[in-house]
Formats: sequence, structure tokens, C-alpha cells
Amino acid sequence: MQQNPNRQNFAQQLGEFFSRTKASRSLRRSELFQILLSLLIIGAAVFCMKTGSFERFEYRCLDYFFQKRPALKTDDSIRLIEISEESLQAIGQWPWPWHYHAELIKILKQWGAKKIIFDLVFKEDNAPYENDALERAISEAGNVYFSVGYEQRAEKKIWVHSLPIALEPKGDKMEWAHSDPVLESRLKGIGHHHIQLDEDGVLRSVQPWLEIGLERYAQLGLKVAIDELDQQVLIADRYAGKPMLINWPGLWKDRYQHYHYSDVIRSYQGMQKGLKPVISPDAIKDKICFVGLTATDNANFSVNAMEPQVPRLAVHAAIFNQMMTGQSLIPAPVIWNLAVIVMIGLIASFLFIEFNNIRSFIAGLGLVTGWVVIAFISFWKFGIWFYVFQPAVLVLLLFIVAAIYAHIVASREQARLFDLATRDGLTGLFVIRYFREMLNQLTDDALKHRFPLSLILMDIDNFKSINDTYGHPAGDLILKKTAHAVQSCLRSKRPAKEIDLVARYGGEEFIVALHNCPIEEASAQAGERIRKAVESNFYEWEGHQIPVTISVGVSSLRKDENIPDFMVRRADEALYEAKRTGKNKVCIAE
Ligand code: GH3
Ligand code: MG
Ligand code: MG
Repeated sequence: MQQNPNRQNFAQQLGEFFSRTKASRSLRRSELFQILLSLLIIGAAVFCMKTGSFERFEYRCLDYFFQKRPALKTDDSIRLIEISEESLQAIGQWPWPWHYHAELIKILKQWGAKKIIFDLVFKEDNAPYENDALERAISEAGNVYFSVGYEQRAEKKIWVHSLPIALEPKGDKMEWAHSDPVLESRLKGIGHHHIQLDEDGVLRSVQPWLEIGLERYAQLGLKVAIDELDQQVLIADRYAGKPMLINWPGLWKDRYQHYHYSDVIRSYQGMQKGLKPVISPDAIKDKICFVGLTATDNANFSVNAMEPQVPRLAVHAAIFNQMMTGQSLIPAPVIWNLAVIVMIGLIASFLFIEFNNIRSFIAGLGLVTGWVVIAFISFWKFGIWFYVFQPAVLVLLLFIVAAIYAHIVASREQARLFDLATRDGLTGLFVIRYFREMLNQLTDDALKHRFPLSLILMDIDNFKSINDTYGHPAGDLILKKTAHAVQSCLRSKRPAKEIDLVARYGGEEFIVALHNCPIEEASAQAGERIRKAVESNFYEWEGHQIPVTISVGVSSLRKDENIPDFMVRRADEALYEAKRTGKNKVCIAE
């Protein structure tokens, strides 16, 4: 019953070699699969970006950038003249007679204002002399701008001018007409003040140009900037068609010099009486003065990224400011964002191939943080807005997929290594080292739970002569087939803990531990079954039929034993007895 250690080692080494080369090939295939999976996810991200499904999240990120960015520089020629709460209290309820505005225009002009821009809607009925007063003031000043908006009525867009307009019959249709073309012709310019909020109710952009019917107007702030810069054609082309992002320079009250309408009037009147004015005329000289409502009940307020109440006045100022200071905010072209998605996706996939929980997480986090910082700097310093939400989600997604994938590969690899360490290369049965460990556990269990534990030890009869007659490869084949026959006789469809444990004991010897099985049953049933199965199995080598038999020794754990060694020795003795008394038989230990 001795084994041939050299043969055993060689066979094992050969088996290990083959399974190792197979494993490395499958690992390479698994990497390829992971790369394909990553590419698929990147493709999906590109698709999502093209459909704009996540744009509103990108807008949130943009808002966040606005909140984190330090204030921008502002053009110091900007002045806001507010029709504020205080002004209403000082002057009276809104709307005011038009000659008040005529008065303001006169004062501002006298103080040297460069441009006077009104963002007001005059809809109220008006006495003719009020109209005349305003017309005269506008004419004399020569640098006054008015605004125009539109309202949707009867599903048709119509212009509602700052100036009174009327619905007039024209042929069999009614059409809007400008009621006072004379007054309008006296203006320096007209810009639109139309505001469209994003779906979430936040103001982020304006239409640079509004075109309805034959009339086309630039946004009021843009219109003033175009005149200031004298760049009509260039700017018109650059901002045609697309909405124009507003580059908010900061909180509007902090960023611009602003005065109450009433204080301007008061200062002027005070100066007439020789008093020191609240607002010095120098503060207005050569300045661009935007006049509009900021009184909460009357003004048109919007929410922006930084504050809940931004008056329309501040929108015009912001647009004018970004044009004058060269701080326009431009969304990165779609193709740039797509390039970013693909590049970050590829870098992340590359980082996650050799997956390691912590290291990969830190690398992914670093990648996302790095991109957010770059995007923020690009937004802040260069006025180019890149997407950050989608690249970040993509990295997270790739991380999760890589983690799941790595887990699957690792557990498969673990199972393979376990088999490699515990299974015999030739027969696929457990190796004796592992069997001993399990047998010790089984013995403990048997003692603890008081169930009978039996052991079967077997040895192929006259194996040496089989080897000698047909050669070692034939012997190997018989070993394999016999191992299979032995295994097929055992209980395998039980809970894992109660499966009969079978191992290759040595060269052509096998050992079985029978869970919860008394010695008589082990011998008469399992032992006999194995012996018969081996005997009746069909073994053929190069046309020769080889008869194979096996001798079996059976023993069981005694009540006074707490280690399995004696049981093994008794099985060995029983096996020896079977050999001695004629082979191909089952013997029970005394
Ligand atoms: P007995 O009936 O008394 O058991 O006679 P036997 O010839 O089988 O004697 P023994 O059990 O001592 O012989 C074991 C032989 O098995 C020795 C060795 O050459 C052979 N052997 C051991 N391992 C392997 C193996 O992996 N492959 C092959 N082909 N032969 C092996
Ligand atoms: Mg032997
Ligand atoms: Mg033998």
C-alpha cells in the first residue's frame, strides 16, 4: 500500500500546469470583456448626452459654480436707477405720469449721462401733453433707449412696446400697430426685455435676438453694448439663434452702483436750492444709466443661481457688462463635451481594469475631482461652461461595474484556486491533506452530535501487474475510471455537510468518510456497492479488456475515540485482511 511519490508529483504538476495556462487565458478574456462592457457604458453616456436627458443636472452644477465663484469685475460705467420701494413712497403710486420720466431724462442728460436706458412698459392711457413732454425730452437727449417685449395672445405672438400700441383693422384682419412712431423714431435704440426661464424656473439665459414678424430686436443690454462697441455685424453673427448664457458677475446690489429714482430727482431739486446733493452729478457723468422697477410689488423678478430676486434691470446690466468686459459665458460646443465624456470614460476604464477597491476608488475620485476643478477654472477664467455631472456619473457607473465584475472574477478565481489546492490532478478527487482536515472536523461533529462515522479504505488489486502488462498510461486510465466508479456509489445529493467525503489516499488507494452511517451499513451497502461497481466496470486499453477488482476495508469511530487515526488504522488492517484472504472483497475491522 505504498505510493509512488514521483509519479504522483509529476501528474499533479502537469495538471496544475494545464489549469494554470487555461486560467491565464480566461483572465485575459475577462479583461477584454470588461473593456467591452466599459465601452458600452461610454457609448450609452454619449447617447444620453446627445439626447440632453441630463441637462437639468448640468444646470444645477452650473448654478453651483456660480455660487462658488468669486465676483467678476464689472464695467464701472454701469449705473442702475431704481424705481424702488423708497421712490414709490417719495413720489407716489405707480404708474407715474410720463412727464416725471421726461424730467428724469432731462436731469440725467444735464449731468452728462452717456446713455439712458428705460426698461418700462407704458400701457396706461395718457394725456396728450404727457406724451409730448416725453417725446421732447427723448428728442433733446438723443441717447435714450426703450425696451420692447411680447405677449402671447390668441396663439399669436405680438409686440407689446414700451410705447403705447393699438390694435387696428387692416383689410379684414386686425393688426398691432405702433401708436406713436414719432416718439419711437426719436429713440437712440430699442432692445427686447423678454425673459424665458428654464424648466426649473431659474433664469440662466436670454434670447440675444427676438424676431417676430418683420421686427427683430437685440436683447436690451446687448443692444446697448453693440452700440457702445460699434460691433453690430460681429456680435449679431456670434449670437444668432442660440440662447445666450448670462454671466452673473455677483449679487446685483453689490456689483453695480445703484440709486433711487427719487434721490436723483431730490438731488437735482436740492442743487437748485443750493443744497448739497445726495447723488453728485459726477456719479452720472459719462455713465450708462439703466432705469427700471425694483419695487417688489411692481418689478419683474426672477430667480438666478445666486439670489432669489433678480430684477430685469440687473439682467440687462449683466448682459451689457459681460459684453463690455469680454466676460461672455459660452457653453462648450457639444463635440467638446462628447470628447470629454469619451476621454474621461476611457481613462476611468483604464484605471479600473486592475481593480482594487480602495485604490480604484481614490483614482476615480481623483479623476472626477480633477475634471470638476478644470471645468470650474474654465468656467471662471475663460467663460466656457463644460458638463460635469455626466462625466462624474459615468466614472461612478464604470467604478460600480468594475467592482461587481472584479468581485465575480475574484470569486471564480478563488473557487479555481481552492480546487487546485484540494483536488487531485488525475482523478479529480480530494487530496489526502484536505481529506485529513475534513475528517478531523467530521470526527468532532460525530462526537458532538452523536452520529456514527464510518470509514472505507480501498486498494486496487494487482495494480502493479496492470501497470507492468499494459503500461502506466493504461494504469492511469484505470485509476481515473475506478475513481469515477467509487464516487458514483456515494451519496452526493445531500446537504453539503452530509455528503460522503472521498479522496485519493495514495497511488491506487481511495478513502471515503461516511457521514452518519453505522459500520454494518458502510460495509454491506456502501462497501459492497463500490466493490461491485469496480468489478462490473468496463476497462479497455488498446483493444484489451482489463479486469479490475478492488479490496475494501471498513471501520468506524469508536465511542471512546476523539481522533480519527485509530479508525484509519483499523480500516487499513481490514483492507490488509481482505487482501490476505483473496482480494476483491469487503472486510470489517474487528
Ligand atoms: P495488491 O493487490 O496487493 O494491492 O497488489 P498491487 O500490485 O496493487 O500492489 P500495490 O498496491 O503495492 O501497488 C501499487 C502500485 O501502483 C505501485 C505503483 O507503480 C502504482 N501506482 C501508484 N500510483 C500510480 C499512478 O498514479 N499511476 C499508475 N499508472 N500507477 C501508479
Ligand atoms: Mg497500493
Ligand atoms: Mg494494490
